[in-house]
Amino acid sequence: MSILVVGSVAFDSIGTPHGRVQKCLGGAATHFALAASYFTDVRVIAVVGEDFGPEQEAVFTRRGIDIRGIEHAKGLSFHWTGEYSGNLSEAKTLGTDLNVFADFEPKIPEAYLDSEYLFLANIDPKLQAKVRAQMPNAKLVCGDTMNYWIADHRETLGEVLKELDVLLINDGEVRMLSGEHNTVRGAEKVLAMGPKALVVKHGEYGATAFFGDRMFLNGTPNPFRAPALPLAEVVDPTGAGDSFAGGFYGYLASQPSLTSAAFRRALFYGGVMGSFAVERFGTERLQDVRLAEIEDRFRLFKEISHLEEHPGDVPA
Ligand code: AMP
Repeated sequence: MSILVVGSVAFDSIGTPHGRVQKCLGGAATHFALAASYFTDVRVIAVVGEDFGPEQEAVFTRRGIDIRGIEHAKGLSFHWTGEYSGNLSEAKTLGTDLNVFADFEPKIPEAYLDSEYLFLANIDPKLQAKVRAQMPNAKLVCGDTMNYWIADHRETLGEVLKELDVLLINDGEVRMLSGEHNTVRGAEKVLAMGPKALVVKHGEYGATAFFGDRMFLNGTPNPFRAPALPLAEVVDPTGAGDSFAGGFYGYLASQPSLTSAAFRRALFYGGVMGSFAVERFGTERLQDVRLAEIEDRFRLFKEISHLEEHPGDVPA
């Protein structure tokens, strides 16, 4: 199964209590594609500038990611500057330079048209809509967005939401989109905007899936909560949400059918990939994870959230 992803491919300048990096490879589609590449084939639609060269390309191709859909344009690539302080829970955006993304007209290469899974990663909803329109036969459509687009592009975003099977956003974005402080009430309002399911990412505290009445009835726990791994050291949270999405969607695409059990396991794999992403700056950690490490961590996720009696349990 192949995933087609459209989203930002960028250079990020990031400051965290662990240090600072200038213009390292980033972007929502980049983090997503790397995380998903451990589970399935991934194809990318994006635009980059003249500052994106063989070194950056190799990060994708070493993981077998198809980048024939990355267009090269005159000018500079998207550049995001952000900073984290204190508990590293939320990035403060210091700069968003769209650069070549400002005039991007996405075109899907012929070879991508049979992609069954479409992921609309964080980017201008106008671009998400253009890609969605060119993929009418996608089997599953999943998407993300952020405060930057919710604030000023609500109408276009509303059109994108109507077409989604699954929306993945964080708590703050649910509040902003719904106008509700309470996540459960906010989720109800967001589901009424179109998506069949909503996955709310809680950063270091895991994620919760809310299912609308067009998805997984028949006793599926609703909502369903998946854990995150308590980590002693978070070096750089940038891309954790996109890596979560990549693990989640990559795993789903690798499964023979979309069952609620596969969906719940996918949420755990999302957490697994997010937990790797934050261990180093930028995409460094996600460039090189071993499959055995992914499976070990998946087992750990199951263990830390399992309440059934354990055969080895003895009275204290
Ligand atoms: P995350 O930490 O998973 O929410 O996503 C971080 C990534 O999103 C960074 O690599 C940025 O390059 C990218 N990004 C930041 N702002 C935007 C934006 N307005 N549109 C698209 N991508 C963005």
